[in-house]
Amino acid sequence: MTLVAVDFGIDQALEKLGIKETNNGTSTGSDYFSSGEIIDSYSPVDGALIGKVKSTSLNDYEKVIETATEAFQIWRKKPAPQRGEIIRQFGDKLRELKEPLGKLVSYEMGKSYQEGLGEVQEMIDICDFAVGLSRQLHGLTMHSERPGHRMYEQYHPLGIVGIISAFNFPVAVWAWNTALAWICGDVCVWKPSEKTPLCGIACQNIAAEVFKANGLPEGISCLINGDYKVGEMMTNDKRVPLVSATGSIRMGKIVAQAVAARLGKSLLELGGNNAIIVTPDADLKMTVIGAVFGAVGTAGQRCTSTRRLIIHESIYNKVKESIVTAYEQLRIGNPLDENNHVGPLIDKDAVAMYKDALEKVVDEGGNLIVKGGVLEGEGYESGCYVYPAIAEADNDFKIVQHETFAPILYLLKYSGDVENAIKIQNDVVQGLSSAIMTNNLREAEIFLSAAGSDCGIANVNIGTSGAEIGGAFGGEKETGGGRESGSDAWKIYMRRQTNTINYTTELPLAQGIKFDL
Ligand code: NAD
Repeated sequence: MTLVAVDFGIDQALEKLGIKETNNGTSTGSDYFSSGEIIDSYSPVDGALIGKVKSTSLNDYEKVIETATEAFQIWRKKPAPQRGEIIRQFGDKLRELKEPLGKLVSYEMGKSYQEGLGEVQEMIDICDFAVGLSRQLHGLTMHSERPGHRMYEQYHPLGIVGIISAFNFPVAVWAWNTALAWICGDVCVWKPSEKTPLCGIACQNIAAEVFKANGLPEGISCLINGDYKVGEMMTNDKRVPLVSATGSIRMGKIVAQAVAARLGKSLLELGGNNAIIVTPDADLKMTVIGAVFGAVGTAGQRCTSTRRLIIHESIYNKVKESIVTAYEQLRIGNPLDENNHVGPLIDKDAVAMYKDALEKVVDEGGNLIVKGGVLEGEGYESGCYVYPAIAEADNDFKIVQHETFAPILYLLKYSGDVENAIKIQNDVVQGLSSAIMTNNLREAEIFLSAAGSDCGIANVNIGTSGAEIGGAFGGEKETGGGRESGSDAWKIYMRRQTNTINYTTELPLAQGIKFDL
């Protein structure tokens, strides 16, 4: 296998994105500084050190918040459609740099180049969405019960929005948040995952150039870097009214409590345990494509990855055989090589968790029908490549209830009506994405009804994985309840104000209350 650095033009990509060997990881715009510890960023693709990033100290953080607070005074006064024009330019810049940014995403995170490009495309799409939205931040007008009064509501920006993101979508999740928050008149401080810090620097460079070219002040787009300790600076900080956090349920529980303790707002996008229900009326070909892509795409490291397949007993063996056959065709290797279907896990800790999960499912009585294992030898030197695995299991196994961020698919059997399958599907603590494969309208509607799937996303004849930016994205239960991206998700980035205006010379009170002086 050829080395990526030679073949793939990663050096040129890094240069185009302004990534250096050592980068200051704290920024208020085009200004960079940093005095914290060094984070090394290694590629899971070939194990090479891509670059170093100096993390954010408490002093650096203070400077960021002061600059962001000042910038907010200016940015919030700019009419929303004018803010939209800046986001339009930002989207254009992303179009220009789509290839190098897609390459960096792929090389630093380990997803395929196609998916890296797809992630940048999501950023572009949300910019387009946000530009339109900048003329549609509507409130309602209500009829006042008092004569000569007018009542309406309007939305105002919140201030500083803190964004904490996960490694698996190292650029798109930031854009989902930031494009909307900027349109709403907020300023943003972003802490990317410590596993993908260079993607953060690249995005900040792109945004900073646009703000600077428009004569806007430092502080509208800010970057901080580091591990959970740097994240905690924001979660504990009253000056950050909204913290949008994407990551594990474990992290979300800590962040939610810290933010709630100061009565701040949090937007949580946490782990999933997504299932596809396969009914006797399912199209087998579509089922296999949806399940295999959902389970092994991004090496099972999507929050929406398919973890459980709930198959009707009458077709169980047929579906199982087709999926096992499809797994035999999978090519695992360098994700920058288009011929491969499955790339590496993010790091060796993730590999250890994958191995541990395989042991646990066997200990609990599961049957590994596609064994899995770690790949070794030429091309796999990073030690992060694993075989996708399949286990026959029960839904109440502890390991099945848990989200393992790796390509492990559990096959579960159901009998009787679709209601039984829905019960199994809902019987986990997570509630992100769900799907049913069926050509039976009745089953599909039951699945989508109030007594159906309890997830934030419920699909018919589509897998669990992937979503369009136009819809609100997020999940229920321990997935956190947050919604990002499309529909009316913008409302969380604003505060709502109800205004009542009296245009009479009297002062009537509401509910007919009399107060005569
Ligand atoms: P993680 O929870 O380890 O880290 C996520 C981010 O939280 C990182 O930036 C990390 O530094 C920060 N963090 C961790 N502890 C913190 C604390 N106490 N205070 C403040 N910040 C803290 O998650 P990960 O391994 O990077 O990502 C994988 C997880 O993210 C999976 O569970 C996946 O399902 C989830 N995820 C969810 C969505 C969604 O939209 N629902 C999207 C992507 C990823």
